[in-house]
Amino acid sequence: MACDPASPFFRSQDLRILVTNDDGIYAEGLWALARSLQDVGDVHVVAPDRDQSGIGTAKTLLTIIRSQEVPPPVDGVPTYSVQGTPTDCVILAVESLFSEPFDLLVSGINAGANMGVDLFSSGTFAAALYGRSRDIPSMAVSVSSLTEVKYDVAAQVARTLARRLLENPALSPPLLNVNLPNTDRDGVKGVQVTQLAPKAWSEGVEIGHDSRRRTYYWIRYNKPPPEAPPEGTDVWAILNDRVSITPIDLNATNGASPDGLHELAAVVTATLGLPDAKE
Ligand code: MN
Repeated sequence: MACDPASPFFRSQDLRILVTNDDGIYAEGLWALARSLQDVGDVHVVAPDRDQSGIGTAKTLLTIIRSQEVPPPVDGVPTYSVQGTPTDCVILAVESLFSEPFDLLVSGINAGANMGVDLFSSGTFAAALYGRSRDIPSMAVSVSSLTEVKYDVAAQVARTLARRLLENPALSPPLLNVNLPNTDRDGVKGVQVTQLAPKAWSEGVEIGHDSRRRTYYWIRYNKPPPEAPPEGTDVWAILNDRVSITPIDLNATNGASPDGLHELAAVVTATLGLPDAKE
């Protein structure tokens, strides 16, 4: 990695940045991000050919995947459209489309916040999660609105974080989830390092009837959080017009295994007729 850590404005063609998203290759936020990160390094875009929001960590295993290089809306950015999920995009980018490894992955800028434990159904975050699992410092960036999204501050924040992560990898939390309030710079009240809120949204189901009078169901995120979010969480930060930076640990296992779980293991051991692990 050729860069000068002393310079706050370094840029190097040797720094390779992979940009992806789940809103699809035509999403405004993707190109706001790609354009912004051109100031930091050599940007490559690999994105789904359509909106894949809510697809989570899904990868395509049972059908073939097609990909084609497409003319980029931003000059000088190699761009591939993929008939697949965000995770498919990262796998193809890392394994096949490009021969050199990436120094950083940035996913977004998503229209709609990705917060709380709902994070794990986000395709935006899933791309960053997969990047991190391949030892690439990764972050997901989202703005808290589905309409009239203001991408400027998010693009600026992504550029600053990308530069810092690349300048000093030792300081880098390896996987960041970043959310911004949907506001101009003057509306931002602060920047907060946060924890994941328990649950950001309550899913609702809308019931309707098609032209054959068959019932259909449509899942919507249209209910407010059931409780006020705890202070210091990502949902709290967004509700208070702050930029939220949440470091995510790849090891999701709860290390403090309570006695009750040992009892479960003992029950399973007995069911299988296996010798007690302690013997
Ligand atoms: Mn999305």
